[in-house]
Amino acid sequence: MCAERTRRFESAGLAGRVLFGAGCFAEVPDEVDRLGGRRVLAVAGQSQAEQVRVLRAALDGALVEAIVGLNQHVPVADAEAARRLAREAGADCMVSIGGGSAVGLAKAIALDVPLPIVAVPTTYAGSELTPIWGLTDEHGKTTGTDPVVLPRAIVYDPELTLALPVATSVASGLNAVAHCVAALWTDRATPLSDAVAEDGLRRLATGLRGVVADPGDLGSRSEALIGAWLAGVALATAGTGLNHKLCHVLGGSFGLPHAETHAVLVPRVAALVLPDSPQAAARIARALGTDDAVEGLSALTRDLNAPQSLGELGLGEGDLGEAARLGGAAAPDYPRRASEDELRRLLEAAL
Ligand code: NAD
Repeated sequence: MCAERTRRFESAGLAGRVLFGAGCFAEVPDEVDRLGGRRVLAVAGQSQAEQVRVLRAALDGALVEAIVGLNQHVPVADAEAARRLAREAGADCMVSIGGGSAVGLAKAIALDVPLPIVAVPTTYAGSELTPIWGLTDEHGKTTGTDPVVLPRAIVYDPELTLALPVATSVASGLNAVAHCVAALWTDRATPLSDAVAEDGLRRLATGLRGVVADPGDLGSRSEALIGAWLAGVALATAGTGLNHKLCHVLGGSFGLPHAETHAVLVPRVAALVLPDSPQAAARIARALGTDDAVEGLSALTRDLNAPQSLGELGLGEGDLGEAARLGGAAAPDYPRRASEDELRRLLEAAL
């Protein structure tokens, strides 16, 4: 009997409602009401200022405070200021509108001021599906897991993603691709997360190619957003791998942008990891309609005109040693622990 059929696994459903559909942003007040929210704090990126205005009108006085405009990677000082604001406003519910940075700040608030979150994602990052929080200070990025930060409701409205610039769509979409890919080789993968990750990858590849061809095509936007949802479910169920650890090192310690870094690393990390995970390689290849998983991932990043080097994202030659050392210390054991030397070669080639 093959190992796949005999191995032990655990699978737990994550709580939370998901609402998907063009125009369903209008139903956010119902979701707030369902959670008993009467005093709402909105947390949104600068590009979602218009949605905050619409929500303020729709909530009819129940929106008591709004934070509009965010920094990436949730600086600790921003989190502390936002928690003060939430307390002073007497908020009893949060609505995050935006990408991973918006829901990231809402999660950082909830960690200290445990308010329910209605998440309205406008990128493909997938943070809305996970109980993972992240905070950054001068020592780098700290992440942790706490069920209190998991959004209680998610409203996916693909119309809100129509304005997402193509480059940001591609970067956050490849972040989601990275989540699908890594979910297939982690030690927490289950038959359920495998199926979700494979279908998520297939939809992301189709949807993102469609978005690049025509950013205003709602069908491609919907396909990419469903793929992002599935990628988030896969991430939340199966966890992350080496690519994610490297992204956190490069983002937290060298200031590289998270999603774009994923875009550069995904085929390179896959080339390192997949020889030890043939089942993941087979699923990735099938999802991408190719014989070779690594070539399929490289072709996808090229077709999407994604960034191809860490140099263009801000990593310098002099950072390589320290990045490899930190990456080596953070590298997971599955499917095989990568050495500092291997990571240095990988980063050098990616530079
Ligand atoms: P982001 O939230 O920083 O957004 C990127 C840019 O796109 C911002 O300038 C934003 O204002 C703009 N934008 C967002 N939606 C838009 C829209 N619809 N139209 C126009 N502009 C829009 O980027 P991201 O890739 O979504 O998130 C990255 C962050 O999320 C990182 O900090 C990463 O660590 C975190 N993350 C966390 C998890 C988790 O599980 N905790 C998972 C994935 C990502």
